[in-house]
Amino acid sequence: MNTKQESLKIANVEIDIVRKDIKNMHLAVYPPNGKIRLSVPSKTDEEVLRLFAISKLGWIKKHVKNFQAQPRESIRTYVSGESHYFQGKRYILNVIEHQGKSKVSIRGTKCLDLYVRRGSTREDKAKVLKEWYRRKLKKQLPDIISKWEKEIGVKASDWGVRQMKTKWGACNIEEKRIWLNLELSKKPTICLEYIVVHELVHLLERHHNDRFIQYMDTFMPKWRLYRNQLNSLPVVHNDWGY
Ligand SMILES: [Zn+2]
Repeated sequence: MNTKQESLKIANVEIDIVRKDIKNMHLAVYPPNGKIRLSVPSKTDEEVLRLFAISKLGWIKKHVKNFQAQPRESIRTYVSGESHYFQGKRYILNVIEHQGKSKVSIRGTKCLDLYVRRGSTREDKAKVLKEWYRRKLKKQLPDIISKWEKEIGVKASDWGVRQMKTKWGACNIEEKRIWLNLELSKKPTICLEYIVVHELVHLLERHHNDRFIQYMDTFMPKWRLYRNQLNSLPVVHNDWGY
């Protein structure tokens, strides 16, 4: 995602404005949580697009509501038998209380063993698992990033993993730094790659315009498929606005 984005707030609804070389204004709602984007001809006056958005408020609210009714991951309680996802696969959590250090390990193709101290709270267990996801993602990313840097012909000066509530990724174009959402550790690797490609392409093109899409089509022809895959998976319990 682009870091500097024009937006508009109407009746508590946040609308991203994308200026591009088009003739008519166009509204769209994006998954997974109904982020609204208004594409407008490059030189549209702010008052004009504000009036347009107001006239479409009924439509906007209806679509946002539809998105919010989509399946969502239930609140995790971190008890044995609960489903947890890692790299797109479902595992059954097995909580083991022991005296040693907390750790997580995958057993076979189905089990995610979570070792914690006796008396650990839900928050303690959540933290252990979250750090495990972070380590796994950080281990996975260098190869993926360098592969796509070569492919695209750019170089990120730095990258990081962050828990983000509203985006799968972010790019600071000036500093050439990309951020990946910790939640991507739970998703299929190809979806993670798609976000890496998206953020790296921002080093060639700041905006989500036709040129941006052309780059995506060139470097990752099936990117729409991966985007849909990512956005159709159960959404985490956080409120997303991607
Ligand atoms: Zn972007």
